[in-house]
Amino acid sequence: MNHKRTAIAVLAVVLLFWGALSAAQDKSVPRPTPTTREMNLLCWQEFGELVPARIETVLVPMGSLEPHGVIPNGTDNLAPEAMARAVAERVNALIAPTLNYGVTAAMKAFPGAVSISEEAYAPFAEEILGNLADNGFRNIIVLTGHGGNTALLNRAATRVANRCRVRVLVVNWWTLADDITKEVFKENGGHAGNNETAYVQAVVPDHIHPERYKREMASPNPPAGAYYAVPVTSTIGLYEKGQGYPTFDPAQAKDYFRKVNDRVAALILDTIKKWDLAGVYR
Ligand SMILES: [Zn+2]
Repeated sequence: MNHKRTAIAVLAVVLLFWGALSAAQDKSVPRPTPTTREMNLLCWQEFGELVPARIETVLVPMGSLEPHGVIPNGTDNLAPEAMARAVAERVNALIAPTLNYGVTAAMKAFPGAVSISEEAYAPFAEEILGNLADNGFRNIIVLTGHGGNTALLNRAATRVANRCRVRVLVVNWWTLADDITKEVFKENGGHAGNNETAYVQAVVPDHIHPERYKREMASPNPPAGAYYAVPVTSTIGLYEKGQGYPTFDPAQAKDYFRKVNDRVAALILDTIKKWDLAGVYR
């Protein structure tokens, strides 16, 4: 009987030791990297293994299909999508499929533009964010490509954050990178201006058309409240009169692309760090 008890005790100690050892080994063995960071490409089994155990953050590109001077109509989709790919690993995030349509009523008149009504867009965007929260993401980072969606996205972000107890960040890269624009181009930017043209030139250099460009295609944005024209008179809208004309310089494009992405990655990491520090919606 005593022998039996001793044997059981020894066995228990061995099992405990073995358990502790393998747990320690688990920590030291690097976890395999995801086969992809794109939600479109993950199977549900791998997604389930990754979220939320290993990945708590998702990047959601949201754009618009609208005219942009002599760069692609899909610029507002291509830019945040490329941004998401450039920063996903640095911020340990997955990338949600891009919402390629947005609210762009003042540009609907231009060939190839698609404008969704605010009434349809706002709840749809909110449901996307809510579903990402339901899937276990703790940090939802909306990378917007289009200012016309921003007010609606900010509202959707607020509602989803408080209803689902998650953290949501909406990033307007062209405003966040305001000082980088002035550093790289030595002047202010514009819609489809130097900044946006350069960023997209770094992504799809074969789809930029300087041969179609004329300087008079650009107009300064109206000073606040001065006037409002629908359709807009120019798809290149300069933030400041006399500044922001596209440069089409490939070296500047690469430099700008890298600096903007570094800024966006830093903002995401800093925001998550501060949310964690505050312990909100953990
Ligand atoms: Zn744009």
